[in-house]
Amino acid sequence: MTPTIKLSSGYEMPQVGFGLWKVDNKVCADTVYNAIKSGYRLLDGACDYGNEKECGEGVARAIKDGLVKREELFIVSKLWPTFNDPEQVTPVVKRQLADWQIDYFDLYLIHFPGALKFVDPSVRYPPGWQYEGDKIIRSKTTIQDTWRAMEALVDQKLARSIGISNFQAQLIYDMVRYARIPPATLQIEHHPYLVQQELLNLCKEEGIAVTAYSSFGPASFLEFGFKHAEAMVPLMKDPLITDIAAKHGKQPSQILLRWATQRGLAVIPKTSRAEVMAQNLDCTSFDLAQEDIDKISAKDGNIRFNQPSNYFATQKMW
Ligand code: NAD
Repeated sequence: MTPTIKLSSGYEMPQVGFGLWKVDNKVCADTVYNAIKSGYRLLDGACDYGNEKECGEGVARAIKDGLVKREELFIVSKLWPTFNDPEQVTPVVKRQLADWQIDYFDLYLIHFPGALKFVDPSVRYPPGWQYEGDKIIRSKTTIQDTWRAMEALVDQKLARSIGISNFQAQLIYDMVRYARIPPATLQIEHHPYLVQQELLNLCKEEGIAVTAYSSFGPASFLEFGFKHAEAMVPLMKDPLITDIAAKHGKQPSQILLRWATQRGLAVIPKTSRAEVMAQNLDCTSFDLAQEDIDKISAKDGNIRFNQPSNYFATQKMW
């Protein structure tokens, strides 16, 4: 049974979920269906992933086949920065809900803090980054304005919990002063090369649950040709991780996920392979020694891969 984390909104969030970034449209409905069949209950999607319709098809089929009921799932999605202007928030959420074939999100996050100029969905959806030449075009909307619209989603029962992603401590210090509904979760890049202990401490103090993404570090970014990802020792081949894995009779991937979950975070790995889906989900059934957790944390190098500016350099992908 997957443990849950109690959110400040009162709802329980599964500690291990399934990520949906870069899940190809052609296989997405089947992947979501199979993830639910494997036992995943949290699905982590986003407008930007461009596959919410197919995610919805997978969910609808799983419900129709009796694998799960809607209320047993915890469906997460995110607000892309071109929709951060307050008047755009509810309409895009309604569109996203329609794609998922559901009437509320369990958790809805601001995907990145900086608002971008609105792109009409009839022109381009998902919109991706907003450029003119090599310059990003911003909107003047502040996070406070966007957060008011996020709070309205809860009032309208379109989202049960709301949260943030890719926010650093300074923005959180600011937001907690004005938030009528405090952010229930923060989703961040987190792996042994990017431990972010002070940010985690702040979230603990503020009652904000933290979800780790890209738990395997550079592995997720090799396909973008990021040189600093290629230069790192792959975490699943790092002798410290493989030795701890051998000691427990587990996969290195499970050690990386257990390190994060024992630090109190939720994790959302993704794979299309059934046996790997099961392994990833089964990452809370054993415990690492505190000494091993500390040794893994000592690999911290404050090395971040998922930085918008990294993608600007490899623009062609958008
Ligand atoms: P990931 O952890 O899902 O996977 C990285 C790579 O490792 C993938 O190629 C995957 O197929 C592979 N992999 C997965 N399990 C494995 C295993 N057991 N053994 C070997 N290889 C394995 O990385 P990710 O996609 O960067 O992050 C996970 C999820 O986090 C995403 O799908 C998305 O939902 C979310 N995410 C959010 C943001 C954000 O800005 N909020 C950014 C990135 C990712």
